[in-house]
Amino acid sequence: MLQVKNISFSYNKKAVIENVSFSVGVGEHVSIIGESGSGKSTLLKLLYGTYDLNEGQIFWKGHEILGPKHNLVVGPEFMKYVAQEFDLMPFISVSENVGAFLSNFYPEEKQARIKELLEVVELLDDANTKVKNLSGGQKQRVALARAIAKQPEILLLDEPFSHIDNFKKQSLRRSLFKYLKEKNIACIVATHDKDDVLSFSDQMIVLHEAKIMANNTPKHLYENPQNKLIASFFGESNNLNDLGIVYAHQLKVVDKSDLKAIVKTSYYKGSYYLIEADLDGERVFFEHPNTIENGLQICLSVL
Ligand code: ADP
Ligand code: MG
Repeated sequence: MLQVKNISFSYNKKAVIENVSFSVGVGEHVSIIGESGSGKSTLLKLLYGTYDLNEGQIFWKGHEILGPKHNLVVGPEFMKYVAQEFDLMPFISVSENVGAFLSNFYPEEKQARIKELLEVVELLDDANTKVKNLSGGQKQRVALARAIAKQPEILLLDEPFSHIDNFKKQSLRRSLFKYLKEKNIACIVATHDKDDVLSFSDQMIVLHEAKIMANNTPKHLYENPQNKLIASFFGESNNLNDLGIVYAHQLKVVDKSDLKAIVKTSYYKGSYYLIEADLDGERVFFEHPNTIENGLQICLSVL
């Protein structure tokens, strides 16, 4: 189990991580969300032992993870970290990059292992391509394959799909998280994408102003968003006076109600329209099967 105990850290004076504690079980998947600059990348780097903590301690199965003051090489053996900016060897092939840290002692096993890893990240067709000739998204997939090559016990991923296009993202995500669960590899993912979280995380940590604002299952936080920040991570939402936080899909047009709003704009969203309306001077969003004429008054009710 990973135990993060009251850690604090600052680059300069201002605390970037302040008194943060949480734990992650063996094989458990945790996502870290928060606005840009909230400290997600810094937290992952601290877990990897990149910097010395100002306060607190980090343990994996009782082994303390220490910073550069105490270690010549950053990063413990049982842990792998894939940075937002990944560094690969550009002049050798995808296969060679993935196999770089695997033993050459059993060449056949090594090739089979590389093939298995390239299947997980859906890069088999590019096995012999030089990394310098790959797109950003393909490079990101090579970095992922390399990180899981030696079966770490815990994997730290910083926005792992940020360079990967939507055509590939969905299936890659399923394939990678399924593989990690099968191998019982714990995984901590910094992300701003709810699709990384809802279906794949056991636990979701919200970072805000250097502290943990919430830590619970994605389902719990989705169903009980304690504030607009958390709700807005999941989708378009409203903070209504008497009703509190209501997602756009929870508001419906009805014949009669006290919630009267004037329609401003309809946005096409594929399977529905997102309607922006004015409710007593406040902006309100709701979902509707069709467009609604601008300027029309409608009545709203919570499902
Ligand atoms: P996130 O990943 O959530 O966007 P970061 O951890 O990258 O956030 O950054 C958190 C804060 O720390 C930001 O204010 C950022 O400017 C600052 N920061 C990040 N890296 C450094 C660094 N190497 N030196 C100084 N400040 C940094
Ligand atoms: Mg970041």
